[in-house]
Amino acid sequence: MAELEGLEFGKSDFVLLDEVTMEQFMDNLKLSRFEKGRIYTYIGEVVVSVNPYREMDIYGKDTIDAYRGRELYENPPHLYAVSDAAYKAMKRRAKDTCIVISGESGAGKTEASKHIMQYIAAITNPSQKAEVESVKNVLLKSNCVLEAFGNAKTNRNDNSSRFGKYMDINFNFNGDPTGGHINNYLLEKSRVVQQHEGERNFHSFYQLLRGGSEEMLKSCHLHNDPALYLYTREGSATSNNDRMNHKAVMSALDAIGFLPEEIRSINQILASILHLGNVSFASDGENIKILGLDSVKHISELTATDPDSVSKSLLFRTVATGGGEVIEKGHTEQDACFGRNAFAKALYERLFGWIVSRINGIIEVKDYNPVLHGKNTVIGVLDIYGFEIFDSNSFEQFCINYCNEKLQQLFIELILQQEQDEYQREGITWQHIDYFNNQIIVGLVEQQHKGIISILDEACLTVGNVTDTVCLESMNTKLAQHPHYTSRKFNPSDKSMDFQKHFRIRHYAGDVTYSVDGFLEKNKDLLFQDFKRLMYNSTNPVLKEMWPDGQLSITEVTKRPLTAATLFKNSIVALVDKLACKEPYYVRCIKPNEMKSPVLFDDARCEHQVAYLGLLENVMVRRAGFAYRQLYARFLQRYKMTCEYTWPNHLMSSDREAVEAIITQHGFHDDVAYGHTKLFVRTPRSLFTLEQERAALL
Ligand code: ADP
Ligand code: MG
Repeated sequence: MAELEGLEFGKSDFVLLDEVTMEQFMDNLKLSRFEKGRIYTYIGEVVVSVNPYREMDIYGKDTIDAYRGRELYENPPHLYAVSDAAYKAMKRRAKDTCIVISGESGAGKTEASKHIMQYIAAITNPSQKAEVESVKNVLLKSNCVLEAFGNAKTNRNDNSSRFGKYMDINFNFNGDPTGGHINNYLLEKSRVVQQHEGERNFHSFYQLLRGGSEEMLKSCHLHNDPALYLYTREGSATSNNDRMNHKAVMSALDAIGFLPEEIRSINQILASILHLGNVSFASDGENIKILGLDSVKHISELTATDPDSVSKSLLFRTVATGGGEVIEKGHTEQDACFGRNAFAKALYERLFGWIVSRINGIIEVKDYNPVLHGKNTVIGVLDIYGFEIFDSNSFEQFCINYCNEKLQQLFIELILQQEQDEYQREGITWQHIDYFNNQIIVGLVEQQHKGIISILDEACLTVGNVTDTVCLESMNTKLAQHPHYTSRKFNPSDKSMDFQKHFRIRHYAGDVTYSVDGFLEKNKDLLFQDFKRLMYNSTNPVLKEMWPDGQLSITEVTKRPLTAATLFKNSIVALVDKLACKEPYYVRCIKPNEMKSPVLFDDARCEHQVAYLGLLENVMVRRAGFAYRQLYARFLQRYKMTCEYTWPNHLMSSDREAVEAIITQHGFHDDVAYGHTKLFVRTPRSLFTLEQERAALL
């Protein structure tokens, strides 16, 4: 509440700005909020958060207690207040809710998601029931594990999430967590085999090497120096507290309920991947052979497979001829390297997927009987990669940015559109606000037949030598007319793009130039069946479980598996459907600067984020509208005690008239509008006064 915080902290809700201009918005965000140590500000119920890049003393038990059960406007803006609002909606009104956290890499999404979960854990289960405590414990501990396996140091964030995460927390009728479910999205597995300069592989590898006991490293045939392994050489000089984190991760795995042999298998798979990276090939012109047979020996031991089979799957692949004959085809050196890397990536991806599903198995809600236990409600928390614009943008950025377009679309639908629709429905006059609807960009990517994903898939399915460049030409032909698509062909003078390589999408957050290099290969995501069979034949049951498709013979393998882009699209469409049926709460994270500095507020960078996140439009819609609305009956129930005409009961002909009596008596007439079924209140201030009066009377 602005009043409580004092005027020196500016407007705690952007809705209260004197004028909605970018200048006023930025002044408030920077001068009155960020520079005064206020990192959270509202737009109605949306929290705008600026990454402080320093420890803040605002997450302690006292703070949690201050927010518990309170209304949004009773305390200064905080993640805890929206967490509580989502929790109350879930508990009091049995609504499924979700908290969507967005913002670019390093803006503070993952930290926010952890604070939200910690808050929810802290305010639930007052009676300390053991089974609830154990669910909470797994939910909190799972963060540590997923971060080890899914996060990496990038040039933008030392602990960057390289996967998207959506976590549902289930609650019983008491409002206590009874279980949960994690969905993970598109792990950036290319990082396993290659990293940009100055970046690292996933934390898990360095943690194993730096933190593993001597005994364990010995059993994995590993030395403790990441520089010795090709896959961890880059970034081997930097440490992110690897040693300490290794211990934390191992004990988290144990606490969650992973069995000792499962934990051992996890480490063995990590070790196998490291050894795999050190396998190379040499060609004598005709045949190729493996260099680094020791590595092969270690891989076979660690994966519990036959050493000859390991060598063979690295050198040959089984193919079915047109006539149904099955033959073995020797790899070229290039194919062998490709196969090895694909294998390493797939091993890691499956390991990650398996860890997530194992956690899910442990925390899934069991024996839930809706008749006995009442409705099982859910709070979902989404922490997914933000919009990415790098110097060079590839298939991964294409997928990530498409995902952000979809989420922006949902935001528009839920917050902007819904708001306007409601005013119309309630018969409230108001002025329509124009905002950019990004549906057209979503269509550019996902439309059947004409969209970029369809064009990519078609190229992947075409037999013969379709190259990335051919695919680009096909896009140029089919998308020539699209206002958000361009390439050098249509801009011959633009030297920043190459004719053979680049296309550009005008995203809602800005223009991104993509290089088609590797698009087809990444979309096909081919892994030779020989590797799958090798893993399926492992005598280690954990490993075998990860590779059920290895039991298929080459003739049974589907010729047209879904491509990576299509699988991703399907998963994002499913995610959006899941979110759309919940009551949404939003956290919009802003990254103040590129230097991870606690004192720097880069005006241009921040203004850009405010612009593309649509925050100004958000304020306008909210302001043209009303900060608060409530059904007449509910409003009356809460505030009837503050007015002599309504207490204890009113004698008017409708609840609406009774509400009018309360409003008139308090002199708030100019601050409200009367809809068909609801009262709309423009500013939180009038409501605050009512709340205070009510509290004084209680
Ligand atoms: P994102 O998930 O958006 O990429 P992170 O949540 O990983 O970003 O944040 C990046 C870094 O910024 C964190 O490692 C931490 O150092 C800092 N940070 C983010 N949010 C906070 C916060 N609320 N308080 C203190 N530091 C923060
Ligand atoms: Mg993150």
